[in-house]
Amino acid sequence: MQTQLLKIDSRHIDTEVIKKAAELIRQGELVAFPTETVYGLGADALRPDASKKIYAAKGRPSDNPLIVHIQEIKELALIAKEVPETALKLAAAFWPGPLTIIVWKNDRVPYETTGGMETVAVRMPNHAAALALIKESGCLIAAPSANTSGKPSPTEASHVAFDMNGRIPLILDGGPVGIGLESTIVDLTEQRPVILRPGYITKEMLEEALGVEVFMDPGILAGEQETGRQSGLKPKAPGMKYRHYAPKAELVLVEGDMASVVKSINELIKTKKKEGLKVGVIATDETKEQYLSDFTVSIGAREDKDAIARHLYKILREFDQSEVDIIYSESFAAKGLFEAVMNRLKKAAGHRILYV
Ligand code: AMP
Ligand code: MG
Repeated sequence: MQTQLLKIDSRHIDTEVIKKAAELIRQGELVAFPTETVYGLGADALRPDASKKIYAAKGRPSDNPLIVHIQEIKELALIAKEVPETALKLAAAFWPGPLTIIVWKNDRVPYETTGGMETVAVRMPNHAAALALIKESGCLIAAPSANTSGKPSPTEASHVAFDMNGRIPLILDGGPVGIGLESTIVDLTEQRPVILRPGYITKEMLEEALGVEVFMDPGILAGEQETGRQSGLKPKAPGMKYRHYAPKAELVLVEGDMASVVKSINELIKTKKKEGLKVGVIATDETKEQYLSDFTVSIGAREDKDAIARHLYKILREFDQSEVDIIYSESFAAKGLFEAVMNRLKKAAGHRILYV
């Protein structure tokens, strides 16, 4: 299959391009498109055959459900068994935006889209091209991140093309995304709201909007501590249990105060170099000059959390193009947006963490 790449500018939407993409969606085909979080791989969410194509193109396990994208809050009622009060509060506060909610699904939503689950994940993206595509297609669009399963999510159209060339008919190129991490997922099907995946919308922001305490899925917290691997707790979002975002080279996180981290990483670099290995480092603007590595990339300045989130996946992909055998990364105190950054970094590292 030939993959076409068409530019789309959010400030001046080219209606011809959107019409073409919308027609493909209506035919049950796949279209990759930009959102504010990462690029999505879209298909008609209510057609089992279309959803199945997403799993095939990504090589995604079939038990890992898709997020359904809508372009108006009232479309939630088209797929939810009932719309809880909490959903309306969160929609009013954060939609369009980087928040996915989980509600009970109705019979319109095929199990192919929900990975066999009775619940459905829904989001309204804050991106003019994405909203225009959903509207023009007249469909609700199921869209996971547009990467090959297991790889870092795409934050630029070139990342999508690298993974999906020849597998899908069309990629809409809207330039680099604004946020760069996948949406926060909050489960509204239990007594209490539970975060299944941390993201740009933090626990504190959700609590302020809802006026009640919001909990973190114990399965995520357990998975983030090495000991959690033996605790038997599984994350509730099926996708969170899979190895993810991993670069080809082994990635190791180093945690501690800044001076100790730099010193320890440099000692490790010396040892690895003696073994004939090439070493990469994920540094920050504050430390990037201090490393003896073969390939050092700064993820951004520590006080600019947004930039660090935005750069993470691009950097992980860049390391795949470099020849390094092992990568050491600095860590961040897991608060606010850094909670999401650390969640992704730990998964990318397969939970290899050195405390210094
Ligand atoms: P992606 O769109 O690639 O970021 O993946 C979607 C994420 O949402 C995966 O981690 C899924 O496991 C999660 N997800 C989607 N639907 C549900 C659901 N009904 N219940 C729990 N998690 C879900
Ligand atoms: Mg994904």
